[in-house]
Amino acid sequence: MIYGVYAAIHNDRNIVSASQSGGAFTALSDVILDMGGVVYGCVLDRTFRAVHMRADNKAQRDLMRGSKYVQSDLGSTFSQIKADLAAGRTVLFSGTPCQTAGLKKFIGDKGERLYCADIICHGVPSPAVWKSYLKWQQSRKRRRITDAVFRNKEGHGWHSHFERISFEDGTEVSSNVYANVFYGHHPLRPSCFSCPFKSLERQGDITIADCWGIDKIAPELDDNTGISLMLVNSQNGQELLDKAGDNMVLQPIDIENVMQPCLKEPFPEPEDRDVFWQEYRTKSFGYIARKYGRYGADRTPKMLVKRAVGKIRRIIR
Ligand SMILES: Cc1cc2nc3c(=O)[nH]c(=O)nc-3n(C[C@H](O)[C@H](O)[C@H](O)COP(=O)(O)OP(=O)(O)OC[C@H]3O[C@@H](n4cnc5c(N)ncnc54)[C@H](O)[C@@H]3O)c2cc1C
Ligand code: SF4
Repeated sequence: MIYGVYAAIHNDRNIVSASQSGGAFTALSDVILDMGGVVYGCVLDRTFRAVHMRADNKAQRDLMRGSKYVQSDLGSTFSQIKADLAAGRTVLFSGTPCQTAGLKKFIGDKGERLYCADIICHGVPSPAVWKSYLKWQQSRKRRRITDAVFRNKEGHGWHSHFERISFEDGTEVSSNVYANVFYGHHPLRPSCFSCPFKSLERQGDITIADCWGIDKIAPELDDNTGISLMLVNSQNGQELLDKAGDNMVLQPIDIENVMQPCLKEPFPEPEDRDVFWQEYRTKSFGYIARKYGRYGADRTPKMLVKRAVGKIRRIIR
């Protein structure tokens, strides 16, 4: 049962900029932290691995902002949550629907103080592919990587998907090679192709996501800085939103207008997925980048001519 569907934007523009969508996660987790609770979510560690961590303050929680489009390592998260609940702490867990379902099963009926925020989930690529991508970027640049952002809203806007890789000498690379490999679906986990959670039967008390489609139904809200979609799925979720709502602009919307593919059914497994993995194992990542990430696609003779013509037209104008 869905209690409510909202487009949501945090009142603090700095929080919207720092978040992947409209800052719904910060608004929800602030409520939990302000009542002395703890928050679990996904961060990138020093080696750029996506891992779940525990936060009992806002600085630690802030590290969870931003989507990491790769499978997160849960480590001992479930046991830590169990211990926190046993100690009487209120807990917010944020993660994919399958992680949330697993946690709820693990905690069983001892989850009175457990709130879950699941994301609408496209699927998660293998961490090995993310690691190879970073290694490839590092070897091209011959510099150590100091930061990685999977979807850089700052430079390209919320509607676009470009990753940003920063290097020790202060330079940056803006690329959509990893994004293209991700959206090709070849590196997704096998379970993602038969995911039972791509539906309106949600696992979280609240579901947080990108409010794709808002430009059609309420274009006045969309300035391309990011808007969250929030589905309230339980009484607990409603209570949490009631407390978080003061910090957000909330616009009720009709679910029919925001039914993105990941709420309907899993993506089909690409027919050449085996070929991808065989090539991944036996060829360089440069090959994978060209074939599956469209690396260099904007440097074909046709594209170079097209760009030159565009440039000349702009000069003439
Ligand atoms: C792998 C992945 C696929 C997604 N697919 C879609 C989609 O198809 N459609 C859609 O509308 N939205 C999708 N999202 C959700 C969207 O990108 C935002 O994460 C979400 O809207 C929260 O934004 P925010 O501004 O509220 O939160 P932010 O403050 O940016 O917080 C990000 C939240 O995502 C969690 N998170 C980040 N990376 C991971 C990860 N690897 N595993 C588990 N949890 C993670 C963090 O714990 C945190 O709660 C996806 C996110 C991920 C990580
Ligand atoms: S698509 Fe489904 S199985 Fe894959 S990570 Fe997301 S929730 Fe889990």
